[in-house]
Amino acid sequence: MTGSNVTNASKLLLDPEEPPPVEIINAGGRNNTILLCDHASNLVPRRLGNLGLDPIQLAEHIAWDPGAAVVARGLSARLDAPLVLCGYSRLVIDCNRSPSSAESIPEQSAGISIPGNQGLGQEQKARRRKELFEPYHLAISKLLENRSQSSTLLLSIHSFTPVLNGLLRPWPVGVCYGRDPRLARLMLRALAERVDAEVGDNQPYAIDDQIDYTIPFHGEVHRLPSVMIEIRQDQIGTASAAAGWTTQLADAWLQIAAKAQCLQV
Ligand SMILES: [Zn+2]
Repeated sequence: MTGSNVTNASKLLLDPEEPPPVEIINAGGRNNTILLCDHASNLVPRRLGNLGLDPIQLAEHIAWDPGAAVVARGLSARLDAPLVLCGYSRLVIDCNRSPSSAESIPEQSAGISIPGNQGLGQEQKARRRKELFEPYHLAISKLLENRSQSSTLLLSIHSFTPVLNGLLRPWPVGVCYGRDPRLARLMLRALAERVDAEVGDNQPYAIDDQIDYTIPFHGEVHRLPSVMIEIRQDQIGTASAAAGWTTQLADAWLQIAAKAQCLQV
């Protein structure tokens, strides 16, 4: 290796043998839905040394959405739809936050200080953006370009904690939307027929430009019908429970698919 290559390699965040920043499965899936999973992984690039956190902290919700990737993979198989998963922890750079947001590379999360994110320089932030954030969103953009955008639906899968600030959150699943409630209304109705509990209507969160990036950037801007599903983490804590919710969500999605075609503009 030449001296200049050593210099270039040392500027990289990911080692060549580490997992890629984005995983695409079932890229040729025949369903007109594209599944997205922004918070699929709690992996941290080796060069960042776990951001100074211990493994227990990295297993918690601050680092990822536990169970979301399991459900998303199951939906990809059941629906025969492509799925794009982010390969690294939201604590390294959150792919569902604008890079200009203070939460993009959080210095603290849920009251926990993130030592490896304190006082980063512009170059360090730009490296995370270039090697993790941009490849993830470029992969989504390319998938959309390769399909006819006018016939694509976006379905984003997240999970949420059962308790926040001491308050129990009653909804086992939430249907979340921002400017575009079209798919959400259909999905809310379909899930209400199946789920023996209150389905969250824009709970635990609404999609908000100040918080969310993926659906506003890829869905709302292009007027693609899009919706975010949030699943409470105690509902998908085991493989069989996650499989049960995968079936519920897939059946509801397939039920609304015909009506969703009419949403295209
Ligand atoms: Zn999430």
